[in-house]
Amino acid sequence: MEVITAVVAWGLSAVCQNTVTSQWLAPICPRNITTELASRLSSSAQIYSPGSAGFAEATSRWSSFETPDINIVAVPSVEDDVAQIVKYASQNNIPYIAVSGGHGAITTESRLKHGIEIWMHQLNTIEIGEDSARIGGGALSKAVTHALWDAGKQTVTGGCECTSLLGPGLGGGHGLLQGRHGLVSDQFISMNIVLASGEIRTIDETSDLWWAIQGAGHNFGIVTSVTVRVYEIQHPDWAYEAFTFTSDKVEQLYENLNVHLLNNGSPPVNIVNYGFLMNVPEMDPKPFHDLGPTTTDTGSGIYLDVPRWVGWDNDAAPCQHNGLANTRFPIDIQAYNVPAMRKVYDLFADVTQKTPELNGSFFLFEGYSLEGVKAVPGESTAYAFRDDNILVAPVVSWVPAGQDIAQKATKFGNDLRQILYEGTGRSELHAYVNYAFGDETPANWYGFSFYAPIA
Ligand SMILES: Cc1cc2nc3c(=O)[nH]c(=O)nc-3n(C[C@H](O)[C@H](O)[C@H](O)COP(=O)(O)OP(=O)(O)OC[C@H]3O[C@@H](n4cnc5c(N)ncnc54)[C@H](O)[C@@H]3O)c2cc1C
Repeated sequence: MEVITAVVAWGLSAVCQNTVTSQWLAPICPRNITTELASRLSSSAQIYSPGSAGFAEATSRWSSFETPDINIVAVPSVEDDVAQIVKYASQNNIPYIAVSGGHGAITTESRLKHGIEIWMHQLNTIEIGEDSARIGGGALSKAVTHALWDAGKQTVTGGCECTSLLGPGLGGGHGLLQGRHGLVSDQFISMNIVLASGEIRTIDETSDLWWAIQGAGHNFGIVTSVTVRVYEIQHPDWAYEAFTFTSDKVEQLYENLNVHLLNNGSPPVNIVNYGFLMNVPEMDPKPFHDLGPTTTDTGSGIYLDVPRWVGWDNDAAPCQHNGLANTRFPIDIQAYNVPAMRKVYDLFADVTQKTPELNGSFFLFEGYSLEGVKAVPGESTAYAFRDDNILVAPVVSWVPAGQDIAQKATKFGNDLRQILYEGTGRSELHAYVNYAFGDETPANWYGFSFYAPIA
């Protein structure tokens, strides 16, 4: 018996070091990887194995649907650690993925099997200069907005406090300040990026990769730090007004939104519309009050309060990693097609009533101001959809309970999106890559079928 054990142990250890077989045997080789990786990393780097509290925290995600399969978590503490992890993974044919805020929810991430998660959260430094700030590759939005605010500065980040700067930014990145300054990626000045070879490069507008990194950036490497433009705080005070309407108001509401907020693709720079209104004093509120909302709510404060009003602050539901499966089916549109809005409303009500497992789902309509985004020439970056005006996504949510409900959820999301797509009259679906479900095509994400087609 002892001899057999010894032979098996020797056999595993030999096989675990074999670079060709290590990928499929990875589930039974984690200790080996831990020791080898640890010897390459700085003293404050960490490695978490399955079963540890650190592993559970690092691998918990906003959505539990179709997640990456992680064998080990490596936590870099200096930028060079990322390079060492990538080199090690490449040499040993082990797949890897960077995780910052853990809000990525595209199903393609589940193609990663027995991989290394590079949890970026220790790379969270924020060094603020006069016109720029250097931000660690794993820094989260709240840390960035608050640190800049304390220094009298701002930049464009995503609206949610718990997503990272770069997770949204590498795919473009929509946020409250985009109407004034452009997308998150429009703020990039330079960055340090670890390529698949493990080489760290500093890139900027003179580099080959620069065009692609601004919108299709997740494909090209792991960004260990980025230098972004920062601005003096010019508009510290914000206010909101939230309206709740009953179903008989669908047509009038979306007609009103088209006319009074969208304004033929030139919405007022001072207003952001998240499916409820965030108002500023100079806007005439009458068109919405005249519809007769059943309830309204108003408030005012400073820029840093906005995530709490929208329900995207660290304490709100979207920032919890609570085991729910959450999927989105995004579509960018030019304007609300009112009959299509009636159809999606009716389908949404019907399915969520008949299938209670899906009744935690919701619809997200994001009407950001666009001036700063449209001021950047469309062909100058890989972000493809600067001409679109509204970001729409059904967010289908359920408690994971097998394939049956997952299939119903996927059909529900696709059916809702299909109605809106038909309502656009377009021949091509525009799907914001950061919200993508995962079964769209690269042309749907990057719009390359007309500009420099790759497919
Ligand atoms: C509640 C919620 C609110 C959101 N709000 C907004 C919003 O206001 N604006 C907006 O544009 N989008 C928003 N999104 C979408 C968001 O852009 C994506 O979900 C994004 O992937 C989240 O980034 P993350 O760092 O949190 O996720 P992660 O899962 O950590 O990362 C997502 C992807 O980015 C890659 N990545 C992360 N960090 C790096 C890095 N340093 N270098 C290279 N690759 C990296 C990861 O490998 C992964 O592929 C929101 C999503 C949710 C769930």
